[in-house]
Amino acid sequence: MKTDKNKLAEIFPKGEKGSSETFTGNAYPTALVEADSVYNTIVGNVYFEPGARSNWHSHPAGQILIITDGVGYHQIEGKKIEIIKKGSIVKCPPNVRHWHGASADVGLQQLYIVPNIEKGIVNWDEPVTDAQYLINDK
Ligand code: MN
Repeated sequence: MKTDKNKLAEIFPKGEKGSSETFTGNAYPTALVEADSVYNTIVGNVYFEPGARSNWHSHPAGQILIITDGVGYHQIEGKKIEIIKKGSIVKCPPNVRHWHGASADVGLQQLYIVPNIEKGIVNWDEPVTDAQYLINDK
């Protein structure tokens, strides 16, 4: 039962496992729309296995997340955890530290959109510790 619940519908290519320098656990980021001078926007997909999450990070021009399957967390530093799930839309404001990833028990599939990339795409910081992550899992 749990296995079925945790099985996400894979819409986009899963790609390679993301670097442990920017993700904790098993996360698979894949670029879908590469940067170009017309749109100045990148779009991609990330599969997060249960427990996987990004490091703390910020986006110089902000980011929009569209959750296409599963259950996960998004947290802006200093604020309470936000539970995100299939159908959730999240705006991460410019230059605000935050993280996002799967819940402990269920994976997450998210599309990300980063606009105005002439300002930059992402600035990576330190990992989200187990204590920071688990305190949100109550
Ligand atoms: Mn982000």
